[in-house]
Amino acid sequence: MSHEGIRFVSKDEAERGNQVERPLPRIAVTPEKVRVLLTEGKGLEIDWTDGHKSSWNFAWLRNACPCATCNEEREGSARKIGQPPKAKPGTLPMYKEPARPLEISPVGKYAINFHWNDGHSSGIYSWDFLRRECPCSECKT
Ligand SMILES: [Zn+2]
Ligand SMILES: [Zn+2]
Repeated sequence: MSHEGIRFVSKDEAERGNQVERPLPRIAVTPEKVRVLLTEGKGLEIDWTDGHKSSWNFAWLRNACPCATCNEEREGSARKIGQPPKAKPGTLPMYKEPARPLEISPVGKYAINFHWNDGHSSGIYSWDFLRRECPCSECKT
């Protein structure tokens, strides 16, 4: 898909893009509270309906962008979701402004979209994707 601008993404399509393995129970992918700690520059926090709490910093979220372009780029450079891009050998890392969303908007009832300060805004972060990528010690063991 290479349409620019408004894109209509079905739930199925968004989930296929996120490579769903086993379905998670609905209460595990339904946020009870969503907090965006924008002024603190921290990140996103979600309290899920099943009582679990997750939080991600903005840098991770930016590097985890689930859009097709970023997925391809990550696959091409063997970079994991949320990992920063590697600097090319022999080059000094360029200073980049820390990732920060300028705008955050809900996508239907199932996802959230960030408009990043570097101009990128095509990632649709579904609740399902975020829950699967919960970085807490409990989920990452
Ligand atoms: Zn992207
Ligand atoms: Zn967790």
